Amino acid sequence: MLAMAALVAAALLAVLASGSGRARLGEWVQGSPLDAVFRMVLGDLRGRMRDSAPVCSPTVRASRPTPVILIAIDTIRADRLGFLGYERDVSPRIDELARESIVYRRAISAAPWTTPAFVGIFTGSHPGALGFEGEALVLPGDVPVLADALCEAGWQTAGVVSHSYVGIKYGFDRGFEHWDERNAGGHLHVSSESITSLALDFVDEVTDGTPGDSERPLFLFAHYFDPHYDYREHATHRFSSGYSGPHQSQNDNFNQLVKLAYDGELDAAAIQHLHDSYDSEIAYTDAEIGRLIDGLKERGLYDESLIVLLGDHGEMLVERPERLLGHGMAVYQPLVHVPLLIKLPGSERVERVDGPVSTVDVMPTILDFVGHPERASGEAARRSLLRLDQANRRPAFAQTRRDGIRDTVVDGNWKLIRDTVRNRSELYDLDRDETESNDVAWRYPEVVARLEARLESWHEELARHREGRPDAAAPELSEEEIEQLRGLGYVE
Ligand SMILES: [Zn+2]
Repeated sequence: MLAMAALVAAALLAVLASGSGRARLGEWVQGSPLDAVFRMVLGDLRGRMRDSAPVCSPTVRASRPTPVILIAIDTIRADRLGFLGYERDVSPRIDELARESIVYRRAISAAPWTTPAFVGIFTGSHPGALGFEGEALVLPGDVPVLADALCEAGWQTAGVVSHSYVGIKYGFDRGFEHWDERNAGGHLHVSSESITSLALDFVDEVTDGTPGDSERPLFLFAHYFDPHYDYREHATHRFSSGYSGPHQSQNDNFNQLVKLAYDGELDAAAIQHLHDSYDSEIAYTDAEIGRLIDGLKERGLYDESLIVLLGDHGEMLVERPERLLGHGMAVYQPLVHVPLLIKLPGSERVERVDGPVSTVDVMPTILDFVGHPERASGEAARRSLLRLDQANRRPAFAQTRRDGIRDTVVDGNWKLIRDTVRNRSELYDLDRDETESNDVAWRYPEVVARLEARLESWHEELARHREGRPDAAAPELSEEEIEQLRGLGYVE
């Protein structure tokens, strides 16, 4: 019986995963005898995808109803992309997009790991202002989010994600009419190809062949995950010289690999293999993002859309004396410096911005650009990354509360890192020292004092925001979900 059920369910899954007819088939299965089989073998799949659920009714009007495509790549270091100076050819398709975009060369993520980083991107608030510090919590229902704001202004909203940390359990599906997180399959699951296919299926479903629907433009959020651990070498994108040592990247226990690295037990060849495999994942993801861009072009959507591409955080790959591997534990540039580019409709502005910007300003930028009524408060316009000038340039902040307490502020060329537990500050001149190899805190005490004071007032600001807010809650996780997080290195 189980074997038969598995066969039936596998066939159903194949049809479902192909995208077309997903909603119809979902309805058909529901209530039929197959429903029980389906649930038994695969769990409640409908909990992980949703089609056309009425999540909001348009109540306001935006003055510029532009399609918005938000492409996020999990765990991507800015310094690994060609358009930001990487010498290996790992990102030809993203580089192509960058040539038609505004490129922010020093974009800083609000946090060096997934949940708080996306809290920043989706809410426009620093995660610390909402009580997100050391653990993955549920996005509180009263905090305005990007998808909700666009949905209430008439956008048709679709999200396809590949990590549970940006999934339904953590509240990230709010404001999305269409949602699919079946690709949140843990560290051994390769998802980019499916993400692109599902995203294009959504585009077809939502736009119904009318890309220029100014009444109900599209908001698509596509989340790619493959550069995250495990680092897998894709046959189509090889950069290694054939490592065959014991520390293969598909090691089932990331925490063990982290410990080996920390203890200095990974040799140079093993570390190089991590780098090569990580690059292979980026190249593979880049090709799939290229396929998404091609799909948008074929459907006549590329040119007219506002396209934002960014990373949530980067990855340490044992390059520092501390021999760190993974993310979350520090705020060095490999972790908080992320790619960020914005392609305007018609590529009407192509430029590069050198000064620091924060990914928490992405939401106000989008709302400002589309003329969302929220802009009327003035805040969206004040924070828009499309309106940067000398007057509104500001430092970018990030923080983490994993394995200690570390904050950073990037102001022009200066970057201060404050380790609260050890009561110590480091200072780097990013213009001269991009790899943060030379701590110059001793040489510039006045810069240290100024930036420490800046961090202090930022903390006061966060505390004011948090005042009176109920604590964000932790989600209830199944054993399987905890196991998946362990495989990804998030749980000991
Ligand atoms: Zn992430």
